[in-house]
Amino acid sequence: MDFGIAGRKAIVGGASAGLGKACAMSLAREGVEVTIVARTPANIEAAADQIRAATGARVTPVAADITTDEGRAAVLNACPEPDIIVNNSGGPPSGNFRDWDRDAWIAALNGNMLAAVFMIKDTVDGMIARKFGRIVNITSSAVKAPISILGLSNGARSGLTGFVAGVSREVAKHNVTINNLLPGDFDTERHKSNTEAMARVQNRTYEEMKAIRIAQVAAGRFGEPAELGEYCAFLCSVQAGFITGQNLLIDGGKYPGTF
Ligand code: NAP
Repeated sequence: MDFGIAGRKAIVGGASAGLGKACAMSLAREGVEVTIVARTPANIEAAADQIRAATGARVTPVAADITTDEGRAAVLNACPEPDIIVNNSGGPPSGNFRDWDRDAWIAALNGNMLAAVFMIKDTVDGMIARKFGRIVNITSSAVKAPISILGLSNGARSGLTGFVAGVSREVAKHNVTINNLLPGDFDTERHKSNTEAMARVQNRTYEEMKAIRIAQVAAGRFGEPAELGEYCAFLCSVQAGFITGQNLLIDGGKYPGTF
């Protein structure tokens, strides 16, 4: 299927590794010009080289912290009129809620709620004026089924989810869609470190914890980042113009509910 987005411009956050890089790769394969962001210069440049080599697309790496005003300004300077935004960065640390002070909560809100809110604020009116926009926020399955050691994530992402529910309905008539993509277990560095943290809390080895987590997934395996990247690219397609304000799980059937 031709997604009809060749020549469009995208900004993809947290894109030197894991899910963000996979989203950038899938969009680039569709002929989208991608501006990719991560904090570590060598890593984002290496990711840009890989995506260019694999797709032939125009790729602009930006080394910036997407959770700061200065970082977002640098990204928008590199891509002032994006048609597509994939809001993504690292997740907050795991732990016990009794140990988190105000600073820990503010950092989580900055990273997993406000960065996306401000990126939407800074770009959505241009999308409305150009009559095309696709915004995908990578959140987490924890929005539907909270993970206790990830309380900072559960809380901050729920705030973003509530904001998106409102604003997505306001902009839909201009062919601007905003959706949240909710990953379950994907085999990335972040996922490995969460499994290590769970193993420590439960006094198990990493391999034991990994086997337990795999057994919780109906598909019997962790997801490949490319599977999420392809879903993201579809949500950015012309064909997905009637999908908005949704929280879309991609978790290999782990979530046990009917709805
Ligand atoms: P990952 O493998 O750790 O990759 C994170 C990427 O984001 C890296 O490129 C990292 O590069 C970049 N990054 C982190 N903080 C950033 C910042 N402040 N500004 C710009 N770039 C930043 O993580 P992942 O597994 O792909 O996860 C992506 C998101 O999905 C996270 O929020 C995670 O919590 C969420 N999620 C993941 C899973 C899963 O199974 N993997 C499940 C549910 C939710 P630098 O460090 O160089 O900046």
